[in-house]
Amino acid sequence: MTTQFDQIADKVLAGGDASPNDALAILRAPEEELMHLVAAAGRLRRAYFANTVKVNYLVNLKSGLCPENCNYCSQALGSQAPILKYSWLSKDETLKQAGAGLKGGATRVCMVSSGRGPSDRDIDKVTEMIEALKQEHPDVEVCACLGLLKAGQAERLKAAGVDAYNHNINTAESNHDNIVQTHTYDDRVETISKAKSAGLSPCSGLIAGLNETDEQLVEALFALKELGADSIPVNFLMPFDGTPYENTWELEPIRCVKILAMARFVCPDKEIRIAGGREMHLRSLQAIALQVANSIFLGDYLTSEGQDAKADIQMLKDNGFVILGAEDALTDTGCEARPNGLAIRQRGSGTDVPANA
Ligand code: SF4
Repeated sequence: MTTQFDQIADKVLAGGDASPNDALAILRAPEEELMHLVAAAGRLRRAYFANTVKVNYLVNLKSGLCPENCNYCSQALGSQAPILKYSWLSKDETLKQAGAGLKGGATRVCMVSSGRGPSDRDIDKVTEMIEALKQEHPDVEVCACLGLLKAGQAERLKAAGVDAYNHNINTAESNHDNIVQTHTYDDRVETISKAKSAGLSPCSGLIAGLNETDEQLVEALFALKELGADSIPVNFLMPFDGTPYENTWELEPIRCVKILAMARFVCPDKEIRIAGGREMHLRSLQAIALQVANSIFLGDYLTSEGQDAKADIQMLKDNGFVILGAEDALTDTGCEARPNGLAIRQRGSGTDVPANA
């Protein structure tokens, strides 16, 4: 049986594009057709990425204390979420945390700091950390995520060995001002353009579950396609207590798989990363979602705990995936059960407690 999703996949594999109407049809697919949708999106995934998964590891260099008011963020101005708050990690601590992620199976380290954007002195600090990390781990890919960039900063990061720069558009332009008022959608787009112009691989994605409409999700995905994002993190809102979105639960596992499938159809050859909220929103569909997406974060997120890193690796192994850039890494993993609830991170960066990687 050839489904409408197979027909869209045929069109994309023949060099065509999924249209906004195709994307809407994918988002609105009847639940009983989910596996037809996954099978069709999986054809695109395998055409471009075979059975590989990119494994990324977050190091939160500076947590909380942000003057911006992104109302989905536990680190924002006004957030009462009881997260870890600390200023810049030392270089040694950064190397230790990044090393834990690499040892745990990651091949890309994402170095993130809260705040509107870095000062030139912050760039001094980060470039020193990155140069040291690259010296210790010459094969590591580094993505920086430091907020809005000023002129010349992207070039300095590139010169220090940074491979990619993350700055999410987060939502559709038409929904942007509902989620943050201290900077504009255009500010965000400008930073992505600066990163791209400096030769950094642009990483930009979205957060689903912010009261957006189906049409706005489609709008955001097509904007990311237009921006030329090489990697697209798809976050599912984690509604931290103490933030404006506390108790906002708009997402179901099947809905999340459909959103990832839409991303695959619209941007078939791009890295589609299942990002924050993977465990709590996809729940038992995590592995099915990986038939569509091709990238995950290992272990903990910036301010919340993720699934145990060993369980992440076990899941990849169980499903026959290989880690891109570390094809032999999936050996001898143990799996520990953990609750899927949102737990505030109390280990790793900024603490004396070992990371869970
Ligand atoms: S700028 Fe970044 S850290 Fe600050 S509130 Fe917005 S998303 Fe959170």
